[in-house]
Amino acid sequence: MHSRLSGIGMTSQRTRDRMVQRLREQGIGDARVLEVMGKLPRHLFVDEALASRAYEDTALPIGFGQTISQPYTVARMTEAVLACAPRKVLEVGTGSGYQAAVLSLLVDEVCTVERIDALVRQVRARFRQLGLRNIRVKHSDGSWGWETQGPFDAIVVTAAPAEIPAALLAQLADGGCMVIPVGERGSQTLARITRKGNVCEREDLEPASFVPLLGGAG
Ligand code: SAH
Repeated sequence: MHSRLSGIGMTSQRTRDRMVQRLREQGIGDARVLEVMGKLPRHLFVDEALASRAYEDTALPIGFGQTISQPYTVARMTEAVLACAPRKVLEVGTGSGYQAAVLSLLVDEVCTVERIDALVRQVRARFRQLGLRNIRVKHSDGSWGWETQGPFDAIVVTAAPAEIPAALLAQLADGGCMVIPVGERGSQTLARITRKGNVCEREDLEPASFVPLLGGAG
């Protein structure tokens, strides 16, 4: 894990430590998640003008009307999918790439899909710069998943659909789990779906507030 991030300086380490402490206080208990988020330079995933706010517990704008999720949300979703011990993970809604980067330091392979092409380009460059080589990025409507790469041991959806897309359920491996916010803004629930054979069990984790999962690739 350390070697994958070599070359990154110690800038903002104290601010990051404080963020991790806050995550602990908010109930994040998975030491692997805390360790990775304590190392990953979150300020490199936002615009330079917002870098000084990167470690606050808030979502920040990343352009195109989209946001980087707040640290607590990233930690909670990561913790929730690690429960099914995934090796290959699909993320829907790449955005800034931060959630994918966190996952990439904890699992073997991450595939991530984003519908806004400009974000896809930006994120590819960012991953290259950070030396994160186990992430594949695709410009597409993530409601369809990434069929040629599936099945996935886990799926993380970072934009909220009204209903869970059937294609995503179909690409979930047996024993795998998906963490997804479901519902309209103002009444979303973060749910975890676990697939056992042809049965999917749903567990509601907590209230959520995500941007909507939109159709089509922009
Ligand atoms: N995981 C991101 C959070 C991004 S916000 C991060 O760590 O920064 C949600 C993202 O989902 C936005 O970038 C938005 O463009 C994208 N999105 C919305 N609907 C989508 C769809 N149908 N397919 C793929 N991406 C989608």
